[in-house]
Amino acid sequence: MTEYVFPPHDPVSLPIHGSDARFPVRRVYCIGKNYADHVKEMGGDIGRSEPIFFTKAAETIVQSGQDIPFPPNTTDLHYEVELVVAIGPDLDVFGYGVGIDLTRRDLQSAAKKKGGPWARAKNFNHSAPCSMLTPAANVDLAKARIVLRKNGDIVQHGALSDMIWGIDEIIERLRTDMDLQPGDLIYTGTPAGVGPVRVGDELSGGVEGLQRITVRFV
Ligand code: MN
Repeated sequence: MTEYVFPPHDPVSLPIHGSDARFPVRRVYCIGKNYADHVKEMGGDIGRSEPIFFTKAAETIVQSGQDIPFPPNTTDLHYEVELVVAIGPDLDVFGYGVGIDLTRRDLQSAAKKKGGPWARAKNFNHSAPCSMLTPAANVDLAKARIVLRKNGDIVQHGALSDMIWGIDEIIERLRTDMDLQPGDLIYTGTPAGVGPVRVGDELSGGVEGLQRITVRFV
């Protein structure tokens, strides 16, 4: 048995709808600018250019129902509701969830201006809320819509079919360009309507056929 100098961290995992087993999370990949209407609202070029990938640590995942301490060093924390794809053995799609790609937008804007990395803007503590996973065999997302409510009001909505880069294309790109493995999650980008959250706000994200992600900021 390996001897460690201190106890290793517990693995991060997500519950699976209809199962007592949990999904062990390895990496969290995120794709940026994957819905034309969101690219437009961010002032970008809506041509089909190379997809943008970035990562979050597995430890940034927040499970549905948890309270999120408002993160430090931002006055412009934004929500981005996203379909999450969970990769299983043989690099097939194990299942799907609903995630929120929390973004310190002020830090991201500053990084963009300087041509610097997005890590502080994206990969901070509690930045990746994710719902319970639904096995892929139990749901058909072809016509599903994605919605985010803030304090009960719809603030983001779109159709998954509007994604610029489809799930198969994203998986193929990650498989050949990065190191996609079972346990990886992919946040597949957000539709238009991103905006700020404050202490006391509740976010609830849903995709037809999937379990919701609901978190509150304290
Ligand atoms: Mn995003």
